[in-house]
Amino acid sequence: AQEGILRRQSLRESAARTYARALPIVPVRARGLTIEGADGRRYLDCLSGAGTLALGHNHPVILEAIKKVIDSGAPLHVLDLATPVKDAFTTELFATLPRRLADDARIQFCGPAGTDAVEAAFKLVRNATGREGLLAFTGAYHGMTAGALAASGGATDVRVTRLPYPHDYRCPLGVGGERGAEIAARWTETLLDDPKSGVPAPAGMILEPVQGEGGVIPAPDGWLRRMRRITADRSIPLIADEVQTGVGRTGAFWAVDHSGVVPDVMVMSKAIGGSLPLAVIVYRSGLDVWQPGAHAGTFRGNQLAMAAGAATLAFVRENRLAERAAALGARMLGQLQGLATAHPCIGDVRGRGLMIGIELVAPDTTADVPPPAPALAAAVQRECLRRGLIVELGGRHNAVVRLLPPLTLTDEQAVAVLDRFADALAAAER
Ligand code: PMP
Repeated sequence: AQEGILRRQSLRESAARTYARALPIVPVRARGLTIEGADGRRYLDCLSGAGTLALGHNHPVILEAIKKVIDSGAPLHVLDLATPVKDAFTTELFATLPRRLADDARIQFCGPAGTDAVEAAFKLVRNATGREGLLAFTGAYHGMTAGALAASGGATDVRVTRLPYPHDYRCPLGVGGERGAEIAARWTETLLDDPKSGVPAPAGMILEPVQGEGGVIPAPDGWLRRMRRITADRSIPLIADEVQTGVGRTGAFWAVDHSGVVPDVMVMSKAIGGSLPLAVIVYRSGLDVWQPGAHAGTFRGNQLAMAAGAATLAFVRENRLAERAAALGARMLGQLQGLATAHPCIGDVRGRGLMIGIELVAPDTTADVPPPAPALAAAVQRECLRRGLIVELGGRHNAVVRLLPPLTLTDEQAVAVLDRFADALAAAER
């Protein structure tokens, strides 16, 4: 059955397929960290629906929450009408927000995908400021719709000004560290304040506190605070894209919490829907100056996603899974750094909490920062799959192996993941 399904889908689906190319499996059952394929093989899933599954697959509290809504006879589709399910979700979400935002927050339900929420954020700040420009960063990823794509690294759009995101390992200035972050911040200030720089008047600045698709690059807390000051001083709304970093993933409930930065707008999706599609923006009420109906969308009321999401948020909060992610993630980072000393093809190990990246490089070179090795990364991914471990690749050169395990990962599972990864790396190097 598995071979037939794989063959038919590879013929029927668009050439743009992504995950399915590198991961020729047919999942039929899943629980927690584990996926079972149609061929009966079991895999440890460190892709987690691209970082969506904070509690892993089919967590009992999520299944129960979904069943409860179904059994209650509540309507599943209600556009953006108020419901008890939405009320419970919003209450739970607001309880997780930075205090200063929670006291004065508005929420806009945006539709199923993270990219929908990014578009809504851009529209909101443009509407509120009357300005058109956007400030975005090198290496960013915000989605696949026109506006979100334009703000992502590599795209060009006359309204988007590309600013330098600090990066220790591949700092374009060859500096890195605090000094690199300081230079990046000054560059930003110079561009914004020089009337001759040609920067279109910015309606907002959007950033990921840890770049995910860009190769797992955590921004220094000091740099984030600096971006907060720079934007506040110039009355530019700061938009934090927490689509991938949210709900405990980085070791704090929201990744901005590490730095104490309170953004004007937070973009949320992935884990907030507890594995079902849900995306929202939360923002300070002063920005809420748009007219009724100014932002619409049919699928803004997914009741099952809100119920699954509320259950997820509550479970993460009550079980302190962010703290758990911080501790376990730090331990895994340490072990991977140990592995790197024995394998020069690991150029860099980085991350925050359970958002981890391992950059593979061509070691036999004299360059300060050795060149990325995408073919080796692809080989590692294949060898991982052969050993029953699902990982994803990312980064500007697709040479970063990314680990996004569920926050419920046990110590034993973490050991199994790293053991399989180490084996796969050794096999790929041969
Ligand atoms: N922002 C970030 C930071 C993301 O990581 C992603 C998805 N990887 C998106 C936005 C877009 O979300 P979606 O794929 O649900 O549109």
